[in-house]
Amino acid sequence: MIDINRTNELAQVANNIRQSIIEMLLQAGSGHTAGPLGMADVFTALYFEILHHDPKRPDWTDRDRLVLSNGHINPVLYATMAHAGYFPVEELKTLRKFGSRLQGHPHREWLPVLENSSGPLGSGLSQAVGMTLADRMDKSVTSNRFFYCLLGDGELDEGQNWEAMMLAGKERLHNLIAIVDRNNIQIDGYTEDVMPLESLRAKWEAFNWHVMEIDGHNFSEIISAVEQGKAVFNKPSVIIAHTIPGKGVAEFERKFEWHGKAPNKEEAAMALSELRNLRTFGGKITGEHE
Ligand SMILES: [Mg+2]
Repeated sequence: MIDINRTNELAQVANNIRQSIIEMLLQAGSGHTAGPLGMADVFTALYFEILHHDPKRPDWTDRDRLVLSNGHINPVLYATMAHAGYFPVEELKTLRKFGSRLQGHPHREWLPVLENSSGPLGSGLSQAVGMTLADRMDKSVTSNRFFYCLLGDGELDEGQNWEAMMLAGKERLHNLIAIVDRNNIQIDGYTEDVMPLESLRAKWEAFNWHVMEIDGHNFSEIISAVEQGKAVFNKPSVIIAHTIPGKGVAEFERKFEWHGKAPNKEEAAMALSELRNLRTFGGKITGEHE
């Protein structure tokens, strides 16, 4: 468990990250809104509490690895990394611009602090499984580093995920932790209409994974689940994080229409005003619409 003061600090960091996401998307004039806002709490917990990493030494050998599979939510990855100190927050304004290091999908060649490039959906878990297997085979590795893979729920429609899940289960990759953003939407609609995923827990369990389900906006639950996953020694773990797409801005919440579009000037002003008026209370952000 983390104490209430730390929880409040994390909530404030996540709120700042959400504001950066809105500002970035407005500057870019395109991009994805719902997923990044929905995952801001999970990313904050990872980069400000969970990961063993050093933003000043991004190539530190013993660091944990974070693989983002659904690359289109990268405004939350870029904003969190900038707020954590990997690169200047000011650079966030260059999102999706020609010549920028911050492209619409993560490009590791241009921004080496990333662990992977992504964009084509469904390939991140395979990348993470490969990295975890390589880690086991590399006899020079002495640290107990962990590999995290963040996935969207909609991208689980891609068959490649299930091959990767099968291999990870077979190889009992205990230092691999997948986190699924279970926000129930994808670009064309609600996941259960497009391609039903339930029972998602039972599917992962059948592939020999340790499965946990949490509220993806509750810092204690996020951190406890990762700690539990790290303690499981004979199989990989997956955390199904139930999140609200568009979290933090009432107008954007739970609407799949906000999956793949950016706010215009008026919408961004409304969103920023709402986020700036939120305050932390008892570890949760509260505001007028709650
Ligand atoms: Mg989704």
